[in-house]
Amino acid sequence: MTTKELYTKGARIWVEHPEKVWESATVTADYRSGVLIVKVDQTQEIRQIKIKDEKQMPPLRNPSLLIGQNDLTSLSYLHEPAVLHNLKVRFCDRNAIYTYCGIVLVAINPYNELPIYGDETIMAYRGQAMGDLDPHIFAVSEEAYTKLEREKRDQSIIVSGESGAGKTVSAKYAMRYFAAVGGNASETQVERKVLASSPIMEAIGNAKTTRNDNSSRFGKFIEIHFDDQYRISGASMRTYLLEKSRVVYQSAGERNYHIFYQLCAAAMHMPELELDHQDSFHYLNQGGSPDIDGVDDLRAFNETRTALTTLGVTETEQQNMFTVLATILHLGNIELTCEPESTDAEEDGAYIDQKDKHLQKVCNLLGISKPELSRWLTHRRIASAHEVIVSRMDIHRAAFARDALAKRMYGELFAWLVKCVNRALETAQHRSHFIGVLDIYGFETFEINSFEQFCINYANEKLQQQFNSHVFKLEQDEYIKEEISWKMIDFYDNQPCIDLIEDRLGVLALLDEQCRVPQGSDQGFVTKLHETCHKYPHFMKPRFGNAAFIIKHFADNVEYQCGGFLEKNRDTVSSEQLECIKSATSCRLVHAMLESERADQSATLPPPSRRRAPAVPQASLTQPPRRASGQKQTVGAQFRASLSALMATLSATTPHYVRCIKPNDTKEPFQFHPHRAVNQLSGSVIGECECDWEVRVCANERACVCRVQTEADRGRAVPHVAWGRCQPPPPPHYVRCIKPNTKEPFQFHPQRAVNQLRACGVLETIRISAAGFPSRWLYLDFFNRRILEKHLKDPDKYQFGATKIFFRAGQVAYLEKLRADIQ
Ligand code: ADP
Ligand code: MG
Repeated sequence: MTTKELYTKGARIWVEHPEKVWESATVTADYRSGVLIVKVDQTQEIRQIKIKDEKQMPPLRNPSLLIGQNDLTSLSYLHEPAVLHNLKVRFCDRNAIYTYCGIVLVAINPYNELPIYGDETIMAYRGQAMGDLDPHIFAVSEEAYTKLEREKRDQSIIVSGESGAGKTVSAKYAMRYFAAVGGNASETQVERKVLASSPIMEAIGNAKTTRNDNSSRFGKFIEIHFDDQYRISGASMRTYLLEKSRVVYQSAGERNYHIFYQLCAAAMHMPELELDHQDSFHYLNQGGSPDIDGVDDLRAFNETRTALTTLGVTETEQQNMFTVLATILHLGNIELTCEPESTDAEEDGAYIDQKDKHLQKVCNLLGISKPELSRWLTHRRIASAHEVIVSRMDIHRAAFARDALAKRMYGELFAWLVKCVNRALETAQHRSHFIGVLDIYGFETFEINSFEQFCINYANEKLQQQFNSHVFKLEQDEYIKEEISWKMIDFYDNQPCIDLIEDRLGVLALLDEQCRVPQGSDQGFVTKLHETCHKYPHFMKPRFGNAAFIIKHFADNVEYQCGGFLEKNRDTVSSEQLECIKSATSCRLVHAMLESERADQSATLPPPSRRRAPAVPQASLTQPPRRASGQKQTVGAQFRASLSALMATLSATTPHYVRCIKPNDTKEPFQFHPHRAVNQLSGSVIGECECDWEVRVCANERACVCRVQTEADRGRAVPHVAWGRCQPPPPPHYVRCIKPNTKEPFQFHPQRAVNQLRACGVLETIRISAAGFPSRWLYLDFFNRRILEKHLKDPDKYQFGATKIFFRAGQVAYLEKLRADIQ
């Protein structure tokens, strides 16, 4: 079809809009070269669109037959406005939060409890093929579980999306599904422990941020192990990049990790910790936002303790853990002052009053010497070629060193708890396969981007690469299976961007080098980058200033400010302070935690039962391993190694993807409309089709077909999730969560959503799809609607496969148009 034939009077198209991103319009006069006249549907405004290049005509709308499809790739016109509109119709008009995009599950955060996660829903999805029922996280989980059995191959569910989009909630539902279907009747009840690991990890790894009241500040990969009978036999967890800076600093409106507030709420039950109200601690009050709506910290504390007990963390271990947390809080309150009467050269030097009550409390809690601690909080050792001198630190440096110590202690405590969780989940039972669930931060770009964003985006670049090649391979496999002739198409490969980061003279290597050289500095690092990396196509120098660098990531160009890169990569802490803390006599955990660093690198570990720190199958990746030379590995190098281990694990599994989307940015509590929910949960029977299928009308008057589970069900209202279609579309299986807005009920902000769709690769999936034959129809379905050869003259536009007909993008829409014209 030529452009002139497509853009005739009455053709329905999309035009750009600053807030809505796209709005619908109708062509008012047949297109003639150079200009297209359209009327915007909502405002009736007439616009003339200048067409410079006919390859860039405004996108065409899909026929109404295809609106609200539960798989985006079944749209005939596959482009951004089509994807956005389809998601919006499903989310806003039908309150359907899940939609497939080929093998990806897109999940839009509804910000409210929906009645679609109960046991009856789990049972409804059990044993069903993926396309049979409405898209759901349980459908993806079921697909993974079935494939585990059928293919005897490990599976993984990869959940991504920005903060607050619903990743952790999705991951929890997936795990709940496995616990329900793979539950073990035996005494050990591993699945109960797997579920109990969530409140523990959330207490120590989640915090309130401006985007999410319960934001996970670390990435995690949980492997659920299954035995020969496909019953859960154990589990293990790896964690990634805990945000340690939060321990000592929180921005306005944010909090430190939940566990600290829980502990303060329970202070009166633990007088030995000498705690006070949370507002009196510097490490807890900087955000000025101590409470979370609907959260009772004392109750949460009891839940954390119950979960710890379920996981076998002993009473003494728990006491020790609280001691470490209280120590951190008191450490943050030790007052560092400049000695006012000082006349010597050390005018700016840091001092601590020996009567400082928090200094005293730290020493009481740990059983360490007060003069020793206060000395090393204000002094440091400097080794030169000839001698070692001890010098007083200035107040700024002393505060920095104290904070570094607090962060290290918290980081070690976190790693120790991960080990405890692993110790409890690892069972002696036989393990033959696993399903892994990855809950990891999505691509990030802020006003100011630093080392953390760099690491996160690097991880996403690797995950996206694995995703692209997987989607592409599946697409090819389907064509081969259906025996259609097919030439290899190119797909976006982000290896060049990964090279820029990982090469011998790439960003990570240059950063490590700068951390090693004696006069290394952030500025030195960025200058070196500009000199060395300009030859990489994915590297750019910013137009202004020279303290930043730009990486062209698959999702966007991101400018990274170099300030703090070296410090964050080194993650050093004063060895004198560490030694001093290690001498703790009252808290054995402190010793075990700090010793574990050494234990992990030791080649000859004692048997697990005799180790003081709990044994762990994989060394926790938040733990700083050391190189053979004994030198501590940098954070960047550790992260690179842990990512590469993760990629190796994932590539040996069949992946399933979930992309979470946040629909808006206001933190309004979700207002659920019960009458709408009720409408959607029931349907009136309007007729019956063959065997066990019934045709019903749902709230939006769409005819749905639902499966009758039992004879007693016939004619009764069934949950919406049980609605399906007679002819299931090909099974998809990745999930992406989408945050549709910031906590407004079913508010969908197109600008926000479209950026996330770009960032999480949903639009990239569409592009791969659009390059091949995105539309497939079973012959029988197709026969009912039209006679093909008569209307599609160009044989390149379709192919006959063994069981299906494959169409190029736009062809189904064209046939629909013809059909409408004929009728
Ligand atoms: P992320 O892990 O992506 O940062 P979360 O999974 O913590 O985001 O979700 C943030 C909040 O959004 C949750 O605390 C919950 O209130 C809400 N939410 C997310 N997904 C759902 C869902 N499927 N149903 C109901 N509420 C949800
Ligand atoms: Mg999370």
